Amino acid sequence: MYFASTEEQRWVQRGLLPDLRRQPVAEELRGWNWDRPPLRSIYDRPLGVYEVAGKYCPTGRDVFLRRVQQLKTVPNVGMREGQRLHRVVADVLTEAKRLIYVHGQASVPFLEALASGVRSRDEDDARPTEEDDLSATKVRAVRAFESRRIVERVEAVLARQPHIQADGLAMLALPVSVEMKLDGRFLGLSEHLAADGISFPDTAVLDLKFGLREPFHRLTTTGYALVLESLFERPVDVGCVVYARFMNGRIVVERDFHLIGDELRQMFVEERDEKVRLVAEELDPGLPAVCPRSCPYLRTCRPADQGRVEPLRGPMSANLVDAAQPEAVAAH
Ligand code: SF4
Repeated sequence: MYFASTEEQRWVQRGLLPDLRRQPVAEELRGWNWDRPPLRSIYDRPLGVYEVAGKYCPTGRDVFLRRVQQLKTVPNVGMREGQRLHRVVADVLTEAKRLIYVHGQASVPFLEALASGVRSRDEDDARPTEEDDLSATKVRAVRAFESRRIVERVEAVLARQPHIQADGLAMLALPVSVEMKLDGRFLGLSEHLAADGISFPDTAVLDLKFGLREPFHRLTTTGYALVLESLFERPVDVGCVVYARFMNGRIVVERDFHLIGDELRQMFVEERDEKVRLVAEELDPGLPAVCPRSCPYLRTCRPADQGRVEPLRGPMSANLVDAAQPEAVAAH
């Protein structure tokens, strides 16, 4: 999912990055300037990146209910499926790296067996349910897709560098770290953030979605870019939201590469300030005109007002997968 094609790499290098050279990021919006305005956080109420960046609830009432009212929700079907597919992607990539370190240049046959052999943490833990059966096809499709891409990439590196050692092979063929744990405290965020992927050596932030495209998704990559800058004091200028969907039993992937420029950075900081304030001052932001049908707080906010609920546009609930990521729990 995370590996860009040759055309996409060329687009980033020749299409996006020249824009950045023409209009560099303002110094005060770099993450390493977290100790002064506008990045400095006024309140000590750390939030997850998904809470700041997620605008599924137009007023931010979901954050108020979770953080102030301490209301817990049960993840809906779409959220559980999204979580499961995220785990499969992360597990296949991690297992592939392990196989490369164990078998080195002889790892290809073992990697070929990944398509059927790897069981994700989710699969190991869960008892089979009707829901599992429904999403099992998608799990298999994702696992097969990822495995094929990994084998292709490893073979391509071995064809060029037949004497390469395991560490170099893993780095060149699979230059992505998945589920990267990051400490966001410098920016008033949780100490237990988890980015879907960070690619190297270009240090681009990757975020994987199995739901519909939303304009605010780029705020997630922006938040993690700011955190990386605050931790490592190196610029992080490129983000990519990866949209994976299923069509006729196949996986279709679209990658939204974007620059993490001033506008996105300002938007993220404004969202952070607004949401942290409503938590710190315990301000209920109220209901929006309409609520997405997939919102897990629907019964709380609109117990008798189902007429003002937005109709389903597709499997949008999978977009809410972030709401159940570890950072949500650990940030309290
Ligand atoms: S039900 Fe509506 S107001 Fe309540 S959290 Fe969800 S989107 Fe927000």
